[in-house]
Order: sequence, then C-alpha cells, then structure tokens
Amino acid sequence: MTSIEIVRLAERLVVTGVVQGVGFRPFVHRLATEMGLDGHVGNDSTSVFIDVTGPAELIDGFVDRLYADAPALASIEHIARTPLAVTSEPGFRIVKSRCAEGARTLVAPDAAVCADCVSELFDPANRRFRHPFITCTNCGPRFTIIESVPYDRPNTTMAGFPMCQECDAEYRDPDDRRYHAQPIACADCGPTLSFQAADDPVDVEADPIVRTVSTLANGEIVAIKGLGGYHLACDATNDDAVAALRIRKHRADKPFAIMVASVDHAAQFAHVSDAEAELLASPASPIVLLRAKANTTLSPLVAPGNPLVGIMLAYTPVHHLIIAGHEAPLVMTSANRSGEPIAHGRTGLDALTGLHDAVLDHDRPIHMPVDDSVVRLVGDRLLPIRRARGYAPLPVAFERARPDVLAVGGDLKNTFCVASGGHAWVGQHIGDMANLKTLQAFDDIVDRFMDFYDVHPTIVAIDAHPGYQSSRWARNHHADRVVEVQHHHAHVASVMAEHHLDPAAPVIGFAFDGTGYGEDGTIWGGEVLVANAFEFERIAHLSPIALPGGDAAVRHPCRVALAHLRGAGLQWSPSLAPVNEFDDIELQLLRRQLESGVACVSTTSMGRLFDAVASLLGLRHHITYEAQAAIELEIAATECATGGYRFGWDAPEIVVQPVLEAIVADLDRGQSIGAIAWRFHDAVADIVTRVAIDTARDRGIATVVLGGGTFQNALLTHLCTERLHEAGLEAVTNCLVPPNDGGLALGQAFVAAHAHAVHPDGGF
Ligand code: ZN
Ligand code: ZN
Ligand code: FE
Repeated sequence: MTSIEIVRLAERLVVTGVVQGVGFRPFVHRLATEMGLDGHVGNDSTSVFIDVTGPAELIDGFVDRLYADAPALASIEHIARTPLAVTSEPGFRIVKSRCAEGARTLVAPDAAVCADCVSELFDPANRRFRHPFITCTNCGPRFTIIESVPYDRPNTTMAGFPMCQECDAEYRDPDDRRYHAQPIACADCGPTLSFQAADDPVDVEADPIVRTVSTLANGEIVAIKGLGGYHLACDATNDDAVAALRIRKHRADKPFAIMVASVDHAAQFAHVSDAEAELLASPASPIVLLRAKANTTLSPLVAPGNPLVGIMLAYTPVHHLIIAGHEAPLVMTSANRSGEPIAHGRTGLDALTGLHDAVLDHDRPIHMPVDDSVVRLVGDRLLPIRRARGYAPLPVAFERARPDVLAVGGDLKNTFCVASGGHAWVGQHIGDMANLKTLQAFDDIVDRFMDFYDVHPTIVAIDAHPGYQSSRWARNHHADRVVEVQHHHAHVASVMAEHHLDPAAPVIGFAFDGTGYGEDGTIWGGEVLVANAFEFERIAHLSPIALPGGDAAVRHPCRVALAHLRGAGLQWSPSLAPVNEFDDIELQLLRRQLESGVACVSTTSMGRLFDAVASLLGLRHHITYEAQAAIELEIAATECATGGYRFGWDAPEIVVQPVLEAIVADLDRGQSIGAIAWRFHDAVADIVTRVAIDTARDRGIATVVLGGGTFQNALLTHLCTERLHEAGLEAVTNCLVPPNDGGLALGQAFVAAHAHAVHPDGGF
C-alpha cells in the first residue's frame, strides 16, 4: 500500500421519512453515479436502504447531498449509518424492493401538478398534450389514491388502468422523470373525463373540457372532480353565478375560495408577498388568505365584507385546462352541504341534488376524501386554518412510541389523530360532527388510517364534553379504553406536541376559544393554564358571564353583548348598537331570563367577548358562520391607537368590566371604530403579557403557549408574541395544525400518550 492510495469504506445508509413514491431511488442512483460511488439502493416497507462503497470523505459528502438535494416531495427524517464489509460491486444499481414485517412507510401527501408536467400539458409536440391526468415522480395524486402500502400501482386506485407500452417503458427507465411514478398514464391507457349536463346522458361527442368551459361561461355551476373530491365551480367574476351558488349552498356570507392559473394571475386580485407567492406555488398548493385588491373584476359576492380573499392555484391538469380555456378565476368550493364532508364518489355527489347544473367527472376513483387546505401567513410564520390536502397525512414526530393512541378530536372542524411508534398522524379535516354524514365519514376514515398504519390503540382520547358525538362514537366503539382530556388542556398540549416541548416541563398556556367543556361543568374559553402533558392547573380565566340561551346566543352576538354589559354592571342604553337590535318586550324578557338564570349557561369564553365587542361597535349582530364577528373585529382594527384599555387582574379572574366600560365611554365620545377595535386587541395582548410575566416570576416558567381558535386572529397573535418576547418570554403557537379545534386531536393524543401511558406493571 502506498501513502497516496485512497482508503475505500462501505456503509449501509437507512433513510426514513417520506422517501417512497417520491422519486427517491432514482435520485440516489443519479447522485451516486455522478459521484462515482459503488453499491445499490432499494426500498423496504419502512425505509430506503443504500449500500454504498467509496472513499470515506465522498460518502460523507454523499450523505450531505441526500439531505440537501432530495426530490421535491421527499422529506427525510433520519439517515442511520452503519459500517459494512467492503465488497467489490462495481457501479451503482437499483435493486428489488424487500418487504420487512410489521412496519410502515410514510405516505406522501397529494402534490400539485409540477411545472414540467404543465409545460408538457400545453406542448402540442408532447405525447401527453392536453392529457388531463399528466403526472410524474414529482407531482400528482398520492394519499387520495393509495389503498394500502407499500405504495405500488396495484395498491392504488390506478390498479384498473394497466400501463401501455410507452408508459411502461418510462416507468422502468431510471433516467426518465416518470421512473416508478405509480399514477402515470397517457391518453392510451389512463383515466378519462366525461361531461354530463343536468339530466342529459353523458355527452360522448364533445370535448369534456370545452363543454365545461362553455357551461361556466354561461354562468352555470359545474361539479368538477378533483384530487380529494368534487368542487362546485362557477365564474368568480359573474355576480349572478356566485349569487346562485350562495343560494343553492345556503351560504349567506362565508367567503368562497377562488382558483387562478398562476401567481401572476393571483396578483391581479390580491396583494401577494414573496413568501405568499412561494406558499401558493408550493406542492401543497393550499388556499392562502390574502389581502384583496380593490376594484378588480372579482364579484363582491365572493367574500362579502371581507378584505381577505382565499386564493389557490390550479393544482391538477384538469384545472389548468379549464382555466386556460375560461381565462377568468373560478369560485371553487367543496361539493357538500354546510358542515358535511366533501362528496368524493358519484353517489355522494348525486345525493346533492339541485346544487350543480353539470358534472365534469373522471373514472379514477378517490379512495381517501380530502378537502382543500386553508392557511394564512402571520409575518413569516404559517398559520394553518384547515389542514387537509397537501399536508395530510404527514406525521408530527412524536417521541412517545408506546402505547398506540387514537384521539378523536372535538365536534367542530373535526380531525382525529393516531399516534404510534414515534409518529402522530393527524387526519385531514372532516367536518362538523353534528350531522350523520360527517360521523359516517369519520368512522370510515379512522378505520382506513388505523389499517394503513397498522395501529391498534390501547388508549382512545376524547373531549370531556358529555354531548360530543365524537366522544359518543369513542365510547360506543372503544368503551374499555376511553380517557377524557379537558378541551383547553388539549389546545395547549397541541402546541407542546408540535414544538417537541418536554412533556414533563410546565408551560404557561393561554387557551382562548369559543367553547370548551370545563372541569366544573361550565363553558370555558378564556383560560390560563399552567400545564404539562400530564396535568394542568387553571390559574386564571376571564370573568364568567351568564349567556342566555347558550348555543342560540352564539349565532347572535347582540345577545352576547347584552349579557356582557349586564355582567359588567353597565346600562343597556338605547344609544348602544346591540340594544337597538331588540324591542322593549324582547329586552324585558332577556333581562328576566338573565336575572333568573333560567336557560342560561355560565361561560368564560374569549370568543364570546370578541363577539360582544364586535356587536357593541355595530359591526355584526347576527352571524351566519363561525367566528364571523371576531374576524370582522380583527379586520376593523386598523388604527394603531394609543391609550389602550386595561383588563382588571384579580387572580384568578381577568376582569372584563374596565374594558367594556372604556369601550362604551369611547363610543359615547365618538371615537372611531378602527381605534376602538385596535385598543381592544391591545388590551387582550396586554393582559396576556401581564399574566404571563406574573406567572413566569412566581413559578419559574419561561415558555408561553398560545392555543385555541381565538389565535387564528393574526393581529392578536402578532401583538401577543411581540410583547411576550419583549418581556423575555418564549412564545410558541400552532404552525403545523390549526390553533382551532382542528388541532385538538394532536393535543389529546399528546396528553393521553403521557398521562395515561400503560406502566410496565400493567396499570395506568
Ligand atoms: Zn410532474
Ligand atoms: Zn400510457
Ligand atoms: Fe376549542
């Protein structure tokens, strides 16, 4: 051996994460070949394994580049390295998949059609010119079409479409960008579109895309089958079409999302920052809430009275073909009735009679129904509002490997969570559990998830609310293993789980939302907890008020406003906007009801306080969708006015009275709504900071968690985090799952996995 001879080493690299079905093996093959390394790469059911031989420093460089240059849809969790005996295996190969027992691979979420595929789609010379199902290794359906693992075509809903020779050749060629892309197809072998108007038979003569475009141009509503279900689509610039859609969906004011062709197209209708542009064009392709521009061609009925507009880019080839023909933005809303799950099969769609005038269908079945995701950016931080397509089923790393846990979430914006073996899979947004269809969808999707990941829960975590359908479902199906997790504890734990906080270390948790069942049987929602994963102590809360009519009051912020005025000992003066919503007899009845307490519930809800203030400012007295008044209050807070209001702080009570008194005084003085709304937000951020500082000092805790639906309010979240940082405290919020009840299940799982873990002796 001479001194300049290079020492060759061999190693086995085991790569875990989302590394299958995303073009990882051909990437490894290309990289190793380029770097002159020898060996092979293959899949097993849990990971990708790479046996590599070469100079030591080259192998280190190779590992670095695996992380740095991984394909767009891959997400590496870990690369484990073990030495091997050096063999003489010249060159680098892709070897057959091996199946290991009892383990699971991570499934990739669905991804928007990539730029390469879009350019082929519109290239007349390409053999997939205008093929509505064009896809490659870097894009297309995944989660919605996978029936079982490993992810191979026979285990997907593409099983019924055998590849033609040309597609098969691409599929087998490691240098092709469609190598091992399971859903690839072409006009000769792939799924097909069909168009059907109202009661007519399917039109087999005309081009389905052309028919769809002309029907939309006519101002009609077309049900369009997408990745995770059907959308109802209409021309977003046509007032009559949007008005018809609102009437048919019984959707008075709740904003619709629109779909556009590109980021530039989006910028015609909204202000788009660089970070927002990146988010719009990301493979997840969510609906991004953006600041709407004034005086555009968009119908004002798309998002009435709302300065934000939800925009997503076309994310399937079908969408691109339609918008290229239609040349105007489309309203795209889930095909369902309010609160129900999205229709994803033809039977489900046909049951929605009277909603659409025509259907653009296709014959690739959807195995897993998934809605569009909705997100917002707060500064540069992602604020998920609905987590579904493009994000589900990416797991959250979950250190507690044992026991397997199923958490069933809450009844509004339901999602569930299954946790096992180092991962917590948060299911996609399903809907509101009050209706039977959602409950059936829940049952179905939970079963599929548990099958898929081979999870056998020994603990089933539920909300403590005695009336929740989700809890009832769990008690019916898993009576012997149910554990209750208090609603606001779960909100705080959801943030802890996301940020991998030490489960034993207490945090100061602010859980602000509309409604959650409290330990004392009243409705909580303005809570400060000192909590870890095991337990919590309620150290502060908003002053309780009596709410007349409970849930009925939720739809009428003016009733909440009167209840709050009474709670604060303030007059129902006729000059106040909410008082004017009632006649004298109604006021008398309401007064009597509040005095007697009959049919009143006690609540400390922060969401209701936002409702009350919105009504006091005359912004909104009756709502048609959840959080409507609170959203309008946030939007109204335009003037960074000084001289904010101050809550009283008489531990454990955060006293609302001085804030309401100051608002009424400002209204009397004719102060602007924008200034009052801003001062109210400022007051909430101020009390959060004061309580946090006191508690941090008394308990020696420096981490503050902000959770619950109220923190969907970007202004409030921004003010709170800024001031907590100024006070030297670390503030964390939900960035992976929504802060609303859509994030509850993750928190329930985190609490249950720790507090109710089975000890070696068998007991709790
Ligand atoms: Zn592609
Ligand atoms: Zn083909
Ligand atoms: Fe909640």
